[in-house]
Amino acid sequence: MALIVQKYGGSSVGDARKIKDVARRVKDTYEGGNDVVVVLSAMGGETDRLLDLARNITDQPDEREQDVLISTGEQVSISLLAMRLKSLGMDAVSLLAHQVKIETDSEFGKARILEIDPDNMLGELQHRKILIVAGFQGVDATGNITTLGRGGSDTSAVAIAAALNADICEIYTDVEGVFTTDPNVCPDARKLDKISYDEMLEMASLGAKVLQTRSVEFAKKFRVPIHVRSSFQDSTGTFVIEENRDMESAIVSGVAYNKDEAKITVTKVPNRPGTASKLFTPISDANIVVDMIIQNVGADGLTDLTFTVPKTDFEKALGLVEVTAREIGAQGVLADRNISKVSIIGVGMRSHSGVASRMFAALADEGINIMMISTSEIKISCVIKSKYTELAVRVLHDAFGLGEEKEI
Ligand code: ADP
Ligand code: ASP
Ligand code: MG
Repeated sequence: MALIVQKYGGSSVGDARKIKDVARRVKDTYEGGNDVVVVLSAMGGETDRLLDLARNITDQPDEREQDVLISTGEQVSISLLAMRLKSLGMDAVSLLAHQVKIETDSEFGKARILEIDPDNMLGELQHRKILIVAGFQGVDATGNITTLGRGGSDTSAVAIAAALNADICEIYTDVEGVFTTDPNVCPDARKLDKISYDEMLEMASLGAKVLQTRSVEFAKKFRVPIHVRSSFQDSTGTFVIEENRDMESAIVSGVAYNKDEAKITVTKVPNRPGTASKLFTPISDANIVVDMIIQNVGADGLTDLTFTVPKTDFEKALGLVEVTAREIGAQGVLADRNISKVSIIGVGMRSHSGVASRMFAALADEGINIMMISTSEIKISCVIKSKYTELAVRVLHDAFGLGEEKEI
């Protein structure tokens, strides 16, 4: 007997038939003798629909109220699944974050989980109940509803698995597992049997939406094994686990892309100590995460400074930068939303040279211009025009031989 946390994403609970299929799977798992905690996303497209509703009311919705609104999608899906299970004679109960309780900080829209109280859940499990928990939401110290950022149900599930010391956290989604790149962009993408926490962390933080980055951080910290698998078939998916010796340490093991960032350039910044700090302090005070930064120093003692921020924080960041740019005597501020970041990831890069040049050559062969570059021990990222994203992903996937072995 095991304690299993199962998370179902939006596409897995998209309509009544799919919710019935999920109920069937949950019932089978339970009747196999396991304790089951289910974490659900909202029905597919619902969170977007709710965000649109807010934007039709005002350009800048109040962040607290927006979380009250967008957390409702999960309340709908958990009640429907619990209803279905009960109609099948199962003892199930739906739980919202404040009932669990999942405590977060007060950063509306991107709250972090601080603590999950395991006692309520463990008590219910002792009575052999099936728990159906709303993903994506939390509650802050004063009782406000918060949400965890897009894709946050993954993090709810892994954090609950950690709090309950579950045997496994299964992430059910619309693909068969974690692939060498997004299988919906690159038909040659290959499913991985296993991937290390570190590589998955890079893949997720560089844009692979199959798992929210924070869920992988939790999994790594609390050693929660994750099994990413399809909700539409029974095949084994991908295990996200600790790095071990029999893992292939390919030079490049995956390609990721991210279209959710925008680029801001401050032109002709006086090149003296303290200007970068003046520019970035208000941004970090506003809790905006800056990703890539490049600075070009010109002969005239002036520099151009370019950086990227999440599109969701773009307007806020731009407003702050425009104020500071004037204060420090910079010439102006340019903005570009039509960018994307393509990245290659692989632990084997640590000990190989020539990987970057191969990446740049592959992009150049297709006439794709690189606007920014950043590297770390196990990844290389390039910012390009967003219209080339899919082409770049396929070209890089091919250049590093990541596809299925083809019969000749
Ligand atoms: P869910 O609604 O189940 O949470 P998501 O849409 O958040 O599903 O995540 C699954 C999607 O992630 C897939 O449909 C796929 O397009 C995308 N994806 C991006 N990169 C990868 C990858 N390397 N492997 C698998 N899926 C990926
Ligand atoms: N429903 C939320 C979203 O669409 C959370 C999730 O699906 O994980 O982002
Ligand atoms: Mg998701």
